Amino acid sequence: MHKKVEGTYGLKQKMLEGHNKKQIEALTHLNGPAMILSGPGSGKTEVVACRYLYLVRSKKMRPEEVLVLTLGPRAAFEIKNRICALSGSDYSGDNDFGSSVNIDTFQTICCRILREEAQKLGFGRNFIVYGEEDRFGLIRSILKEFKIHEALFRGIASRISNLKAEMIGHEEFLGKGGGFGFEEKLAKVYMRYQTELRKNNCLDHDDLVMYTVNLFQEHKSILSKWQNRVSQIMVDDFQDINPAQYSFVRLLGKESGNVFITADDDQGIFGFKGSKVEHISRFKEDFNNISVIHFEQSYRCTPCILNAAGAVIEGSPGRYKKKLKSERKSIKRKPQYFCGGTEADEASYIAQTVRELFLRGSYAYKDFGLLYRMSAQLRPIEKALRDEGIPYYVHAVCPLYLKSEVKDAIAYAKVVMNPNDSLSLGRIINSPSRGIGETTLTKTIDNARKDGVSLFEAFRKTSSSKKSQSKVKKLLDLIIRTGKSYNDAGKVIDVMLNKTGYMKWLSEEKEPDVRIKNINRLIEEASGRNLYEFLDHVSLFCECNEVKNADAVSLMTVYEAQGLEFPVVYMAGLEEGLLPHSHAPEQDNGKGIEEERRLLYVGMTRAKDVLYLTGAAKRRFYTRVQMQKPSRFLQDLSEDLCCTVKHASSANGSADLHTPPKQEKKTGDQMPFSVGVRVKHITWGNGVVRDLAGQGDSAKVTVNFPSVGVKCLSLKFANLEVI
Ligand code: ATP
Ligand code: MG
Repeated sequence: MHKKVEGTYGLKQKMLEGHNKKQIEALTHLNGPAMILSGPGSGKTEVVACRYLYLVRSKKMRPEEVLVLTLGPRAAFEIKNRICALSGSDYSGDNDFGSSVNIDTFQTICCRILREEAQKLGFGRNFIVYGEEDRFGLIRSILKEFKIHEALFRGIASRISNLKAEMIGHEEFLGKGGGFGFEEKLAKVYMRYQTELRKNNCLDHDDLVMYTVNLFQEHKSILSKWQNRVSQIMVDDFQDINPAQYSFVRLLGKESGNVFITADDDQGIFGFKGSKVEHISRFKEDFNNISVIHFEQSYRCTPCILNAAGAVIEGSPGRYKKKLKSERKSIKRKPQYFCGGTEADEASYIAQTVRELFLRGSYAYKDFGLLYRMSAQLRPIEKALRDEGIPYYVHAVCPLYLKSEVKDAIAYAKVVMNPNDSLSLGRIINSPSRGIGETTLTKTIDNARKDGVSLFEAFRKTSSSKKSQSKVKKLLDLIIRTGKSYNDAGKVIDVMLNKTGYMKWLSEEKEPDVRIKNINRLIEEASGRNLYEFLDHVSLFCECNEVKNADAVSLMTVYEAQGLEFPVVYMAGLEEGLLPHSHAPEQDNGKGIEEERRLLYVGMTRAKDVLYLTGAAKRRFYTRVQMQKPSRFLQDLSEDLCCTVKHASSANGSADLHTPPKQEKKTGDQMPFSVGVRVKHITWGNGVVRDLAGQGDSAKVTVNFPSVGVKCLSLKFANLEVI
């Protein structure tokens, strides 16, 4: 049903096909607040996507009237994808969702609002959104200036982020006073951080929501304007919204009351970032006459996976009890637990089993999700995947945006959009070299700080006849001229990099071909988009199309996997100290351990067919090697719920997953292939042998090619090569 529905989506009948009664009740809910409270895989996100189409198609609402809010960009992408699948040709891809479609993260939606309203807050409309790297960079420079230990930057950054999530501004925090030690330093850094951001006309992700809420609170006319524009609000994964996001929803939706939320308190995993599951009960208090709907069927996980995950979450106190029955009874494969001797053994077990399943032809690489708790776990897993020749993709950020030349190009685009972005100007001022020494740069930055102006202004004011100064002046002029002449992001990058001599400089650097290719890939991504839109996309989403379409194993933290699903899931690092994390006991007034339990629950319930839980007895953390105990949560998994694999080599006996690949059929002596072998075809590329039949000249081979699907070929003429 949720697969492609051909033709228009106007017919109500088609829209309702395949959904259960409760889902239909939810997706056709029209007026007043509603809450879907139910477990993983029960179709909450599905219903959000369907309801969007129902409102737009059957109820003829304009797309811009319907606001769909998600916590992460992947979740928004997932909803858009499902709408594509449901509506056939109408929405044919992410880029076709024009600016009239409001299906996005809280940050992105608030960013759009602020692009219209920023002046009311004293910001220019051309503000730049700082991503994590910029945020860390600015905080580190402030710590350096205040002579505070720089290693504290992560802790400080996360506290500032939490304060903003709680809607506590820097002045209010400072006003609270009484802080000593770390708190005092924090107040000082927070104050300076906000001042620098404002001076540079920049906002970080948390500012976007906090400032929008401030704007709505302080300017009733602006609030009414946006209330009139939005007639329906939907929020997916409401259990994880923070107080600022809650205020945003309440302010915008209270008047009409048309707020539709989906929630599962068992999946609340962002408490450490200021999210509060209690918003579910607060929603019930703040909005009247709520329709509460419970879904009780799970369409994602098999019964075995659901039972194991259920046993883990069962121990969680104070949860809303929910019924959940799996609809996928045909697969009876228990989850497996494997504990390697070291993290390298764990990783090689993961890589080998991925390869085994792939070779059998039942799963493509993109069907695998490898989930971990901490990025420190990544290195050995990546190595093992590389050793096995398995393509993979780490989800945090698009790899292209991590290349230093691409960062330079983005910084060039940022200064064109907002010359006052001192961080970006600082990055490119000497790239290529304009003869500005470290001392001059530091002095100019100091002057800028003293005078309360941006680096751009400070450079402008510097009057010197030196050659370097004239080069800088040329750059500043070019920035302004380009900003006035072009709006296309691709064009801006192209012009800036060529006119500043950057491309020429790059061509004389190390590995010029690869690096120039990277720049061209970026220009391709940016072309056809306006500068605001492209830079917001880079700062808020950080994904590029080429990775989204690749057939590669996905590696991501469990946090990033929320709302997603994969046929095969690995939950790696099930050890005390990792999951639950060693900091968990101190967090959230002792409730941190429970959040870790929910994290495991979220990870396990991402799996549709196959679930592996893995860990290691000994693990290296940076320079230290440590003995690890299995995660306490594993105690909830009895042998009838999850089978334990002792060693990768002894895996055969333990489960059907490890039985050797299907026996090849006897097809005569000369048959050079067996089922499961990877082969290469001159036109269709790589594929996996699925079946073999016949002998001699009439021998046939069936191959699954990811590019074209399953093909049956004559072995004599196919010219296949084993790889
Ligand atoms: P989570 O809590 O993990 O976010 P969810 O409740 O949002 O899960 P969905 O992701 O919407 O669940 O749905 C899980 C899977 O079940 C999806 O692949 C979806 O397409 C499918 N699904 C949902 N409803 C039905 C249905 N009525 N019939 C068949 N498949 C369905
Ligand atoms: Mg969901």
